[in-house]
Amino acid sequence: MSVHAGKTIDRRANSVLAGLEPAIFFGFFEELSAIPRGSYNEKQVSDHIANFARSRGFEVCQDDIYNLLIRKPGTPGYENAPTLILHGHTDIVCESDEGVDHDFNNEGIKLQVIGDFIHGTGTTLGADNTVGVAFAMSLLASDDIAHPPLEIVLTVQEEVGKGGAQYFDGAKLSGKRLLDMNWHDPKSLFAGCAGDISARFKIPLKWEPLASGQTALSLRISGLSSGHSEFDIHLERANAIVQLGRLLRIAIRETGASVAEVNGGVNRYVIPGEAEAIISVHASKVADLKQKIEAEAAAIAFEYKTSDPSLKIALTESQNQFTEVFSAQAARAMVDAMNLLPNGVQSKSLQVEGLVESSNTVALLSNDRNEVEIVNTIPSAVSSRRYNIVDKIRQLSELIGNGATVETFADCPEWPYNPDSRMLNAGKAAYEREFGEQPHVEVSHSSLELGLFRKKVPDIDMLSIGPEAFDVHTTRERLNHTTVDSTWRLLKSLLSELRT
Ligand SMILES: [Zn+2]
Repeated sequence: MSVHAGKTIDRRANSVLAGLEPAIFFGFFEELSAIPRGSYNEKQVSDHIANFARSRGFEVCQDDIYNLLIRKPGTPGYENAPTLILHGHTDIVCESDEGVDHDFNNEGIKLQVIGDFIHGTGTTLGADNTVGVAFAMSLLASDDIAHPPLEIVLTVQEEVGKGGAQYFDGAKLSGKRLLDMNWHDPKSLFAGCAGDISARFKIPLKWEPLASGQTALSLRISGLSSGHSEFDIHLERANAIVQLGRLLRIAIRETGASVAEVNGGVNRYVIPGEAEAIISVHASKVADLKQKIEAEAAAIAFEYKTSDPSLKIALTESQNQFTEVFSAQAARAMVDAMNLLPNGVQSKSLQVEGLVESSNTVALLSNDRNEVEIVNTIPSAVSSRRYNIVDKIRQLSELIGNGATVETFADCPEWPYNPDSRMLNAGKAAYEREFGEQPHVEVSHSSLELGLFRKKVPDIDMLSIGPEAFDVHTTRERLNHTTVDSTWRLLKSLLSELRT
């Protein structure tokens, strides 16, 4: 087709993914990749999909925040089969390499194929979850694939606290079965995840004037391995906020140090890798404090030599200027909380080997004029255990007193593993039929959007599948294009299985 044909240029002509199979999937994947679609910026992609579905005569509901629900009737012989909800999310994580100037608000992802993998160009790829959306569009575009009535749900804001699924009106759904397409291992079926809740521990601040003859110091812990608070919690890595609490306790007890400022962590889903306190101590005690912190730092480095080999603890003079410090009671209350909040693995599953069942991550530490705030994230596959950990945190606030309070937010239910699930067993049967072997079944300690669907559809039966992707949420994100066809085959086979 000639370049002069303008609008009618075959979009595959300039395609990076042309030639990859299944062609229908990679056509949609490339089309979606060209649309900017970071979290909160989903209107354009949502309209694009809605127009596409309407042009094919399907019923489309788009809500105020651009979640989509698209209905496609069952194919002949499947008209009365139980309705299946197909789920994916339209937003992607927007990260770029240092030095790469990418305008995610206005630019799509520049795809490149290197060997078996599709990458972005110095950016995230967004396979999470362009894959799910492209599969959904492939099904909408096909008329030769047998399937039950479909309710295709494409949510927004998944990557920023599951906002789309929180908002989505579950009353619009008639299906009781859900197939999610945001898994990243073609050799396994994903069949359950933890729920989570966050707890804000607050201590009101009173201030005292800085005594005379004091030296301002920075007590800083850095270089920890950090990691995801759910995927990496079993690795027993050091938590910078908790270790800072341990050091502050020594500083206050041994040298009467005061605290002027605290800070630690980056995000409530990240094990904090850095934390710092600005403290003051009488000039005559600085040498003594240095010695005591060095001794404790050596002990901590030894304890964590395997998990955190680059851990660094530094006590240095601070340029911070301040005339007031936390009251002694407030500082003690904060240090008690930093040291005594439950942290790390709390229980393991006895049903699935190696799986963490419950944990807490002391994730964020900060203060302003009025209070110190410590944010905890508590995933658990068992609701009662999750709430029990919250209750222990509340109990600690009562013991600490000094006006300490706890408030919870972002409560997301778990998706419990059920070996008798119809979706799981249909998935296993389809997998065996296609590939002649049994799939692995995976259950995760991470809390996914899918838990929220249990709140909306109480008896919902769910399963998740997907092709191989690595390092999602980072600029190393890549999709193994050679595994997409087997997921497509599995998807079609599973759909045909769901006649009853
Ligand atoms: Zn994601």
